[in-house]
Amino acid sequence: MSERGFKLFYLGCHLSASKGFKHMGEEALSIGANTFQFFTRNPRGSKAKQLNLPDIAAFQKIAQENGFAPVLAHAPYTLNPCSNDLKVRDFARMVMADDLAIMEHLPDQMYTFHPGSHVGQGIKAGIELIVRLLDTVIKPQLSTLVLLETMSGKGSEVGGRFEEIAEIIASVSFPDKLGVCLDTCHIYSAGYDIVNNLDGVLEDFNRIIGLRRLKAIHLNDSLTPFGAHKDRHAKIGEGSLGWDNITKIINHPLLCRLPFYLETPNDVPGYAVEIRALRAAYKS
Ligand code: FE
Ligand code: FE
Ligand code: ZN
Repeated sequence: MSERGFKLFYLGCHLSASKGFKHMGEEALSIGANTFQFFTRNPRGSKAKQLNLPDIAAFQKIAQENGFAPVLAHAPYTLNPCSNDLKVRDFARMVMADDLAIMEHLPDQMYTFHPGSHVGQGIKAGIELIVRLLDTVIKPQLSTLVLLETMSGKGSEVGGRFEEIAEIIASVSFPDKLGVCLDTCHIYSAGYDIVNNLDGVLEDFNRIIGLRRLKAIHLNDSLTPFGAHKDRHAKIGEGSLGWDNITKIINHPLLCRLPFYLETPNDVPGYAVEIRALRAAYKS
């Protein structure tokens, strides 16, 4: 792998934040990653960890020296910004506001969240609630880019269609603070055929949302078949997408400069194996 190739291929995986940012930076480097994703807090959304400014500074030095892509903070996936229960929505708003305030101590990174489930209120009502929440937590001076994740469309999930993501972005007060995190497992499961028609899906994305909004890829294989509307990640090459299609995705001219984050069912050594294989398959 050439020095140049390494720098241009931004590839990382989901890491545990329990030992802090410097540890995540070092762990990423040790497995050939030059970015990573982490949860801002545990899935139940309990208190975020105390801020440790020296730890953040130590990480920033590692990131700068090694040409890291922005890291991706992930909101607890149990939050529901468009619940029919006011208390649940308030909790999502509180957690997101708090997460974004903390992220400003590590400026210019990215924060992704699942748009949520409308639980029977309908897509339109769900989108309105998401927009309302985003408008209370996103301030014009925010340095963090907030990403809506494309979903598989299971149950009453919002964000399984590109149109839904586009409508949220078009409706908020500060659309330039928003971007999209495309999850390969989710969109394939949602019915976007990136195996047989990757170019067509990207054309749709561009027409409906705009490729300039695409800021990150969650690179996952899928345990379930095309269009299953399930959310079951598989290791790279062990699912319905398959190795050849995954390598087409990382090498696609419209995608190859974006940061890729693995969320495959792996421990750190397992991620190291996938990262090594993907780097070897990266041609761009
Ligand atoms: Fe996610
Ligand atoms: Fe994801
Ligand atoms: Zn998922």
